[in-house]
Amino acid sequence: LLQADNLTIAFGERAVVHGISFHVDAGETLGLVGESGSGKSATSLALLRLLPPGARISGSLRLAGEDLLALPEDAMRRHRGSSIAMIFQEPMTALNPVMTVGRQIAEAVLVHHPKLDRKAVKERVLAAMDEVGLPDPIRRYGDYPHQFSGGQRQRILIAMAIVNRPRLLIADEPTTALDVTIQAQILRLLDDLRRTHGLAMLFISHDLAVVAQVADRVAVMQHGHLVEQGAATELFRNPQHAYTRKLLASAP
Ligand code: ATP
Ligand code: MG
Repeated sequence: LLQADNLTIAFGERAVVHGISFHVDAGETLGLVGESGSGKSATSLALLRLLPPGARISGSLRLAGEDLLALPEDAMRRHRGSSIAMIFQEPMTALNPVMTVGRQIAEAVLVHHPKLDRKAVKERVLAAMDEVGLPDPIRRYGDYPHQFSGGQRQRILIAMAIVNRPRLLIADEPTTALDVTIQAQILRLLDDLRRTHGLAMLFISHDLAVVAQVADRVAVMQHGHLVEQGAATELFRNPQHAYTRKLLASAP
């Protein structure tokens, strides 16, 4: 579904991602691992063309054959939040503290379906809240983010991400801020969503143990280079690159 070829990202004169190539198929999870600063988030933002103005991207990025880097901005805006959705690390910064949760998810719908009537929008929101396991959607629709737990807030962000039925879901460190038991629940939810909707998922983490729980294939980044990629089981059993071996050795 997604194909990146020779993707290079530079901030000003400094390249931070050096000609990487990878793909994510429908229904599979590609885990992107690497230590802090290796270029994982830059890569994910490039897929949405959300890098800051000074950044330069070259190479090619195709979604179902469509060249994302050649699209005009308004066409790209239609992809963001509909065919390609993203969830970020820190739930509280991505949610508006003074707007009800139901309304925030509804706005995510309305951006892409401005003509949908209120009742249909609300139905979609409630269905998404239910699907991500938020308790009692009808009663909690009008609650504010601070009335939910950390894990529930991450579920709210996932509901916002899936409410428009994306084909590609990018999850950048989605569980890093959560404690281990909640982390496992969120990973299970993402995995269920991938399976039910045949989502292509790009799962980014610095934590190999987390990636091992969800990824079908794994790509390893070091200093902006993709040093190794392959089937998760194979890569964990038989790492080829010295850096992958080092990561594995330091994983708990
Ligand atoms: P982490 O695990 O800490 O999230 P990461 O792998 O996501 O790390 P990136 O955020 O992609 O790393 O950063 C890659 C490199 O690009 C880093 O050297 C960073 O300093 C640089 N960088 C990121 N964003 C910008 C920016 N807006 N302007 C200039 N340099 C940037
Ligand atoms: Mg990052």
